[in-house]
Amino acid sequence: MTTYNSLLFEISKPGRKGYSLPETEVDQTAVADILPAHLVREEPAELPELSELQIMRHYTGLSNKNFGIETGFYPLGSCTMKYNPKINEDIARYSGFAHIHPLQPEQTAQGAFELMHRLEENLKEVTGMDAISLQPAAGAQGEWAGLLIFKAYHQANGEGDKRRKILVPDSAHGTNPASAVVAGYDVVEIKSNEHGRVGIEALKAAVGPDTAGLMLTNPNTLGLFEVDIVEIAEIVHEAGGLLYYDGANANAILGKSTPGEMGFDVVHLNLHKSFSTPHGGGGPGSGPIGVKDYLKAFLPSPRIEKTAEGFTVSRDHPQAIGRVKGYFGNFGVNVRAYSYIRSMGAEGLQQVSEDAVLHANYLKARLAPYYDTPYQDHCKHEFVLSGMRQKKQGVRTLDIAKRLLDYGFYAPTVYFPLIVEECLMIEPTETEAKEELDAFADAMIEIAKDAENDPEIVTGAPYTKAVRRLDEVTAARKPVVTFQRNSAELKR
Ligand SMILES: *Cc1c(COP(=O)(O)O)cnc(C)c1O
Repeated sequence: MTTYNSLLFEISKPGRKGYSLPETEVDQTAVADILPAHLVREEPAELPELSELQIMRHYTGLSNKNFGIETGFYPLGSCTMKYNPKINEDIARYSGFAHIHPLQPEQTAQGAFELMHRLEENLKEVTGMDAISLQPAAGAQGEWAGLLIFKAYHQANGEGDKRRKILVPDSAHGTNPASAVVAGYDVVEIKSNEHGRVGIEALKAAVGPDTAGLMLTNPNTLGLFEVDIVEIAEIVHEAGGLLYYDGANANAILGKSTPGEMGFDVVHLNLHKSFSTPHGGGGPGSGPIGVKDYLKAFLPSPRIEKTAEGFTVSRDHPQAIGRVKGYFGNFGVNVRAYSYIRSMGAEGLQQVSEDAVLHANYLKARLAPYYDTPYQDHCKHEFVLSGMRQKKQGVRTLDIAKRLLDYGFYAPTVYFPLIVEECLMIEPTETEAKEELDAFADAMIEIAKDAENDPEIVTGAPYTKAVRRLDEVTAARKPVVTFQRNSAELKR
């Protein structure tokens, strides 16, 4: 066994050094006199003792175990795992952005304010909205803040107590109903029709004087454009409700259409998805919200204002829902998004959506002979397959996902949206080369053939990974969260 898989503590040797610092000139007994006795260490700290190279190999080894967009194709539907150009990282690391402090005097942070202001202006254009707040730290927090704006609006109209219900289609991302509940609303599920869209009749039956609003993503999580969106917006507005746009699928519509044109009142964007920030490890993200004019007063405070003398921070917004995040949101993510928008330009952003949609349709067409395609129409930036044909052969969607790992691909989103049985949800994104799309399609086709002829190859996968199938139920119920040397799987 090489030492790369060992813990640093296991390969530690007393006296081995990875550094050398000059001897301190400070009298140690004097230090002990100054510090309170209970804070003075009696025993050495038991830190591992290693050479610099051993430490280097250890951490490089850990990073090599990671899978990310820079190591391979990552078609995780809904999550937009696209390549994030390194220019954005360079810009975010400029000293003036990276070493700024949120409490430094306003006149010394004018550049940062200007960047945020310009980003707001760009996002207004992208969304067709009239005002933006960069505060929310993720899509889900944007949803929650947006629904608090719904609430504030209905309360201002004297209908706060009456309008208690948020309508959410059954294809929605799980954060939608969750945010509605956290914002204090009751959730009413709207059934999708046989075309995978919001059913107009089901919607009409659900709206009423108790409707606070409808949450929707367009294209929806099946990758299908809600072609009736204008009528949907009219129905909800006529009933006195508002429309919330979940912008996580903006990668499909950049420069082509806007939620504003579609009739939405409040939107969020996931800058870490559509506007290029490395994500997937849990953050940081940025989920700015945009609103139409008549909701501007409710946006989170404080806000950045442009005045004749420069940029200032305004805090006097009596109708605002308040502050939803410290300072001005995740500024570093906003710098990356601004850099991305400026480096792509308006035409580049249009091209993003054209290529994202083209790639998804290409993959869908290549896979359609081998997998069930529950919806036949052209998709937008992602599409769903059903593994029902393979299930009859004894292979489940989970098995297909596990087998893909042996081919070096990250698995698509599986078992979501909930309305498609044995669902595989595939989002190739615009940044992949055709060769990569073809390699993935070839793997998927080979797996479909194996499912038919030799299903055990698929149900036994993965064969090439450090761990095979995990016992997810036991892992959730009895989690082992400390390193166990006796775990044979981890040792490999
Ligand atoms: C990712 C996603 C969200 C949630 O966004 P976070 O930034 O992860 O909180 C909501 N809706 C859809 C459709 C998504 O893909």
